[in-house]
Amino acid sequence: MNPAECVKKIVPLHAAADIGNKKVKSFRSNVGVSDRLLELLHVKGKKYGLESIISFDVKEIVVANWVCLKCRYGCSQFNSNWSCPPATPDISEVRNLLAEYSTALMLVGSQKCNEFYRDTNKKRIDQVRYWKGTVTLERQLFLEGYDKAFGLVSGACSLCKKCAYPENCKFPMEKRPTVESLSIDLVGTLKNIGIGTQVAMDLKETFKYYSMILLD
Ligand code: SF4
Repeated sequence: MNPAECVKKIVPLHAAADIGNKKVKSFRSNVGVSDRLLELLHVKGKKYGLESIISFDVKEIVVANWVCLKCRYGCSQFNSNWSCPPATPDISEVRNLLAEYSTALMLVGSQKCNEFYRDTNKKRIDQVRYWKGTVTLERQLFLEGYDKAFGLVSGACSLCKKCAYPENCKFPMEKRPTVESLSIDLVGTLKNIGIGTQVAMDLKETFKYYSMILLD
């Protein structure tokens, strides 16, 4: 086949609504998220324990140098997990990356976790559930035409009992960075979008967890 014939066979990315009899979605850009789609995500997210999903302007995301200090000092996942620093993009890359997005979704869930400071199976199972929820909604958004959809997860990846880092990741298709690993100040961002949050003082209290999906 000569090059001219090849070109003819390329299906345009912004394909219109029909290919043969099959309906297809066009890719989108800078359109935000409709109420219908938010509702659909909400129904799907509930299966993973997500109670609310809030759409907001990506400009409300606060990025700050100090966040990485918290990862670097005082967290056992630093230099031990593919979803955490230093395996994740540095702050200057993050600023450039965020400039390529227009909308973000905040995914909010809650849990009672008496084992917050312990490495238990129960805690890991919960973490994997929230993780899968974020990745599943990211995939749903891709299928809805948001080709740039990208999930930032809550808590270090726990898909493996012990992360393979620095050896190759065991589940690269599921691997995503955590919100904080991208130097995102979560509390500052929550304030910007009008969500009040407070420190849980007792392990018997209900904790909130937050993950995000970036969109354009
Ligand atoms: S899937 Fe496994 S190896 Fe990959 S980042 Fe998660 S815990 Fe680490």
